[in-house]
Amino acid sequence: MVQEVTEPITFGVDLGGTKANVVLLDAVGQLLFSRKSLIPVSKDPDQVLKHVKNELNECLNKTAYKASAFGLGVAAQIDSEGFVFGSPNLGWQNFSLTRKLESLIDLPVFVTNDVRAATWAEWQYGAGKGVDDLAVVFVGTGIGGGVIANGQVLAGCNNSGAELGHITLVYDGRKCRCPNKGCLEAYAGGWAIAARAQEAVNENPKKGDFLLSLAGAVENITSATVAQAFHEADPLAELLVEQTGKFLAAGSVSVVNA
Ligand SMILES: [Zn+2]
Repeated sequence: MVQEVTEPITFGVDLGGTKANVVLLDAVGQLLFSRKSLIPVSKDPDQVLKHVKNELNECLNKTAYKASAFGLGVAAQIDSEGFVFGSPNLGWQNFSLTRKLESLIDLPVFVTNDVRAATWAEWQYGAGKGVDDLAVVFVGTGIGGGVIANGQVLAGCNNSGAELGHITLVYDGRKCRCPNKGCLEAYAGGWAIAARAQEAVNENPKKGDFLLSLAGAVENITSATVAQAFHEADPLAELLVEQTGKFLAAGSVSVVNA
């Protein structure tokens, strides 16, 4: 139920490796309209951005709102001018996303990294509202993070500060998907939970019976399988979730102390 709408109204887009989520927000962050879609399979930047533009038009057609600015968060390494250095999820590299969008969309454009955008939103409208210092950890397939320090988003070198998923939790520990070992993500990211579960089942197939029965084969066990088994009180899944909680807690303590 939409309360009184505070102008100006803006577009927000969360652009991931397979999906685009377009929303209309008012000036106090109230969600007015939301629309999710799959992006073109080719992931070609021009096609993807054309798709985004069509989605914006659909949003306006379906509502009576008028937007006065456009912001986009993308899973990419991107500088403060909106130049994309690289995006493993989209296969994009080395072009100005801001410039491409400005040529397509007749609104002021702002683009940034998706995790940074989410950090900013959490600071402005969520758990961090009203504070000057905030650390946010986002757990998904990978682990992302953002930091607000002294009332500013921490940019860091190359605008890629606060990679909290890649703080070292264990010296010479589990191999991460980044070039390092022992990162928080290598223990508590979704892909790592799946890997730890598969190892545990291989080590002790009897204990892994239930996970195996859900997934059909060891290599099909994912973090979702672990979650499902956890909800059905499987002891191995309970152990894996408890350990994951401890890894996340240890990582979070390091972040808070840093
Ligand atoms: Zn790492």
